[in-house]
Amino acid sequence: MRAVVLDAVGEPRLAELAAPAEPSLRVLACGLCGSDVEKLGRAPEGTVLGHEVVAERADGRRVAPIHHLPCGACELCLAGHESTCERFAAATIVPGGFAEAIAETPSVELPDGVDDATGTYVEPLACVLRGAEHVPPGRVAVVGHGFVGRLFAEVLRRRGDEVFALDARPERAGRAPDGPVDAAVLCAPAAPLELVRPGGTVLVFSPAAPVDLDEVYRRELTLTGSRSATPRHLKQAAALLPGLDVPQPTVLPLDRFAEGLDLYRSGRALKIVFAP
Ligand SMILES: [Zn+2]
Ligand SMILES: [Zn+2]
Repeated sequence: MRAVVLDAVGEPRLAELAAPAEPSLRVLACGLCGSDVEKLGRAPEGTVLGHEVVAERADGRRVAPIHHLPCGACELCLAGHESTCERFAAATIVPGGFAEAIAETPSVELPDGVDDATGTYVEPLACVLRGAEHVPPGRVAVVGHGFVGRLFAEVLRRRGDEVFALDARPERAGRAPDGPVDAAVLCAPAAPLELVRPGGTVLVFSPAAPVDLDEVYRRELTLTGSRSATPRHLKQAAALLPGLDVPQPTVLPLDRFAEGLDLYRSGRALKIVFAP
């Protein structure tokens, strides 16, 4: 089968790989995530990236594979820090989503009202739903209004928050905060803590910029982090996705991976999805 495989210097190349043993899942679409792009030039030779997958079972049912499986029983899992569980890092999508097929793996079923490309949002949306549990209701500033920031803003709006959105690229920003906010969600490496009212909350939701801890101290801010999702959040995301107003994906075939990467890096597309 064809797959996008990292070469000796970590650059992605279209290559032929042995197909996974049957029963396998046929990949219909896989989203390009910032965390995939981060691994380019770093991950070992032979790596196949891609974890925002929609795949088809032999019986025709479409599923979103569960990216990581926490053990669910250790102290970290029970405390709600599943993404730090020892078991969590193990790969569940083999070889990776930028391929024509993956090995059978635990998945959540995709609802009918969602097309294949948009179905890849189940994984990032699940991460957002888990992060949103840390954000108190009220006035919330989303910092970084790219794809993930927009998903976050939509989820917060749906639950009744007043949402503002900032971005380093002015053309991407949403409504600017008109006064202090109760919480800020950092989806980009920026930390405008001055936006947050005393006693407010800051959720770190992406690789982050340095934070002025003196501000956290003097204004008694709550600083919290959330990374990745759990199977429970993936199920919730699949159920919620058909009703959400989400950005349109730019869909490309796998053999145009370099072009998709370029579109992502230049910011000309909010979300790239590859369909083999
Ligand atoms: Zn992702
Ligand atoms: Zn655990």
